[in-house]
Amino acid sequence: MRSPTFDELFALLLAVQLSSADVARLREWISSITHPAECIALIEQAAAGRPCPHCGCARKHRCGQASGLQRFRCLGCRRSHNVLTGTPLARLRKKERWLSYLQCVLESRTVRDAARMVNVHRTTSFRWRHRFVPGATRDRPKALSIIVEADETYRLESQKGSRSLTRPPRKRGGVARRRGINREHDCLLVARDRSGQTLDFHTGRGQVTVGQLNGCLKPVLSADVLLISDGAIAYRHFAAQAGITHEAVNVKAGTRARGAIHIQNVNSWHSRFKSWLVRFRGVASRYLINYSGWQRLLDARRLTTPAHLLCAAVQLG
Ligand SMILES: [Zn+2]
Repeated sequence: MRSPTFDELFALLLAVQLSSADVARLREWISSITHPAECIALIEQAAAGRPCPHCGCARKHRCGQASGLQRFRCLGCRRSHNVLTGTPLARLRKKERWLSYLQCVLESRTVRDAARMVNVHRTTSFRWRHRFVPGATRDRPKALSIIVEADETYRLESQKGSRSLTRPPRKRGGVARRRGINREHDCLLVARDRSGQTLDFHTGRGQVTVGQLNGCLKPVLSADVLLISDGAIAYRHFAAQAGITHEAVNVKAGTRARGAIHIQNVNSWHSRFKSWLVRFRGVASRYLINYSGWQRLLDARRLTTPAHLLCAAVQLG
């Protein structure tokens, strides 16, 4: 059967008595449509003047177009590239739908829901999520200052989506085999200063160690910060080694705060993260940092439009 032309469809639409709900649906659909050129212009603008991703040389010739993007030939290594080469978005197709998809990211839609909204396959929706989100989450504060709260949250390790499990499958619901925090748990370390700047780290499995605190926190804390944590001994050792002033609140003993000494900001971040995560019905360990980064972006309200997200995702690491 021949597909109807736009004119035929439009004539049919004109003949329909539209309810206000229909009009609302149409308006929503029309506002979600973006011209392919809009997305490409944003990409080219965000990445203007980028040097060759292969050799870093800034001298290049234009050499034609591919997939709507300008191609360049590098005068240093003679290889060709476009502005997305070397970014997580290289070789992704259907650019005319990217901005609508990024609106779904801003609305925290599920893979299935976003696929339906943007009219792409579910596997495409999943692939795009894990290309756009890690790109955009590289928009991170460089350092935390003055008073910094740090605490971890633990989640049962998950191999969701893996073809071969490295352990026996868990029965429904997923319960750890042993009590307490152990190697079955992923550790997500979150540090947040009182201006709301937040950094997240997936440190691996099991209780956070001094070495991991050193690797994650040392580079982002200036020497004059006040670090506040719970009573975990790793923080005390880390702070002593790094020469950072440290206060601990003994949450386990029921102490929640001593004046300004508390970790309630970071703890409420954790609880927002956990309740936001429920909609995804479990996330694989290997994507945990993508989800926490995604929540961090939404929570910070810095990148609030699809264009902001796209520009962040286009930036090179
Ligand atoms: Zn080059």
